[in-house]
Amino acid sequence: MIMAFENPLIKEILEKYRRMWAIHHASSVLGWDMEVNMPKMGIQERSVAEGELSVLSQELLLHPEFTAMVEKAAEQDSLSEEEHGIVRVLQRDIKINSSFPPDFVRELSKTTSMATSAWAEAKEKGDYDKFAPWLDNIMELTKKAADYLGYDKYPYDALLDLFEEGLTTSDVERIFSKIETDLKPVLDKILAGDKVPKEHPLEKLKYDTPAMKEVNEEIVRMFGFPLGERSRIDISPHPFTTEFGVNDVRITTRYEGFDFKRSILSTVHEFGHALYELQQNPEFMFTPIIGGVSLGIHESQSRFWENIIGRSMEFAELIYPVLKKHVPEVSQYTPEELYWYFNTVRPDLIRTEADVVTYNFHILVRFKIEKIMINEGIKAKDLPELWNEQMEALLGIKPKNYAEGILQDIHWAHGTIGYFPTYTIGTLLSAQFADYMQRDIGSIGNYVRDRNFEPIKSWLREKIHRYGSIYPPKELLKRSIGEQLNADYFTEYVKKKYL
Ligand code: MG
Repeated sequence: MIMAFENPLIKEILEKYRRMWAIHHASSVLGWDMEVNMPKMGIQERSVAEGELSVLSQELLLHPEFTAMVEKAAEQDSLSEEEHGIVRVLQRDIKINSSFPPDFVRELSKTTSMATSAWAEAKEKGDYDKFAPWLDNIMELTKKAADYLGYDKYPYDALLDLFEEGLTTSDVERIFSKIETDLKPVLDKILAGDKVPKEHPLEKLKYDTPAMKEVNEEIVRMFGFPLGERSRIDISPHPFTTEFGVNDVRITTRYEGFDFKRSILSTVHEFGHALYELQQNPEFMFTPIIGGVSLGIHESQSRFWENIIGRSMEFAELIYPVLKKHVPEVSQYTPEELYWYFNTVRPDLIRTEADVVTYNFHILVRFKIEKIMINEGIKAKDLPELWNEQMEALLGIKPKNYAEGILQDIHWAHGTIGYFPTYTIGTLLSAQFADYMQRDIGSIGNYVRDRNFEPIKSWLREKIHRYGSIYPPKELLKRSIGEQLNADYFTEYVKKKYL
């Protein structure tokens, strides 16, 4: 029934894999429901249910009969590209899942859940000392995790690879040194000049949620989002995208009641994630190679729609009438003013509030700290000072308390060290993809103006989406654009837009 796969051993593997796929499907539904519908008190039972499902899935994956089949398949030399992809993804999953002894997994999960509640309390009370001992534990456990996973050069490499296959400390260093040397002077120039507004009166404008819902729906319908057919939009405090399968891809958005660009741009962002999943090759359904290949590539798709499309002048012009219809106050502004509202630049202490340009420096601060945490060893008590110094050096502002400084993100409490760089990778890649896209199909802005998104979507499908997870990220880049990640495209994009 699965056309792309002819090899009998691969077919047998896929037959067995279908059960793991089903568990993943079910647990995605549980995860989505937890964020969107579940009453607060449901959390305890839900966590147990999710935990048991993941144990079940791990048992199936690591079953000796299954791993032997995968090993045997890896030795066959008649595999198609897709079949190779299946073997690669499964070997990687098996390796990661079998790296950690059960005691370690238990300890890590206990520590991170305690650390998460300590973090929440510390953040609320502005008391870093409540979190610091937990952060020390997490750093120790994470270093252990890196040792279990194995690495060539630095322990941090093992952690980066977990989130972005093949990514190394040196890769990230190369990317970020460009941000420091090339993008920092551009940011300084933007801030010194008066072309780019640092704030905009529309940030204060209140709106009604039902009206903004209409706006968001009209926008994604213009993009061709198959609402009700293969997708939904719901509401959650932290917007996200989840896919239960190629024909059921869901996004969420948020309505804070003011500063409507947050709701619009976050909807457009999640649309980009969703499109990646919706444009998968349906022949890969039920297999390990369906779905986006990595966090960085995924984020490049969301950032492409958010930044390249959503923050363009043509987009501001396109949605201007829609906005005017639902939020009448907007008629006091011109489309050009709307454009600048979407494109303010100002240093902010909070990462999630940051604009397109300053955002990368927030990630740079975290990368510098993570690298020292893992590769060099540092105590949690010395981190806030480092944080504040870096913020001042890069963005010229200093947190007045821990909540708007080192305690602002939940990531480290969750034990996810090595995740942050994927955000910047996505941002940088989105500009690089845009450049290559325009060489092939011409001005993106013209398509936006004409409300003709098909050529853009089809470029993304042909170059990136249809491959699913067949190739690891670096290989995918080689095939899609023939070049590895290069920060210059983003710097050029920023210069052109703002200077
Ligand atoms: Mg995202």
